[in-house]
Amino acid sequence: MIRIGHGYDLHRVCDDRKLMLGGVQIPWDRGLLGHSDADVLLHAVTDAVLGALALGDIGQWFPDTDETYRGADSARLLRHVLADDRVRAWSLGNLDAVVLAEQPKLAPHVPAIRASLADIFACDISQISVKATTVEKADAIGRGEAIAAHATLLLERD
Ligand code: MG
Repeated sequence: MIRIGHGYDLHRVCDDRKLMLGGVQIPWDRGLLGHSDADVLLHAVTDAVLGALALGDIGQWFPDTDETYRGADSARLLRHVLADDRVRAWSLGNLDAVVLAEQPKLAPHVPAIRASLADIFACDISQISVKATTVEKADAIGRGEAIAAHATLLLERD
């Protein structure tokens, strides 16, 4: 059996926050605004997992009205989803993600982000693809006001 899932997320860029992407802190003079640590890539990946199994979305699992999740480590939230009985029965086939950001340059950080995701999924790094693109200065992301991410993944079980 296989199930496919897709996730998308966007967070606004702001001062005085760290930039977390895929569970990795990226050196930058700005960060992303959000109730949790605003790891836009992990949020897209989490929604892809939940979407694949029709288990709702990250906002239902971890409401931003819940003070428990203020500043939450998004890697911990994804690990919580993966540990759920309904999810644990499945293993990752592959994950393909793209981060849309005008700045900072992400290519140097892609290996660390892939390794972080492989650690969270307890899979081989060859199952994890992370790409980065700009949007040619065309919109809010292009003006550096936001960073977004898409994630698509395949889950498998016997
Ligand atoms: Mg989010």
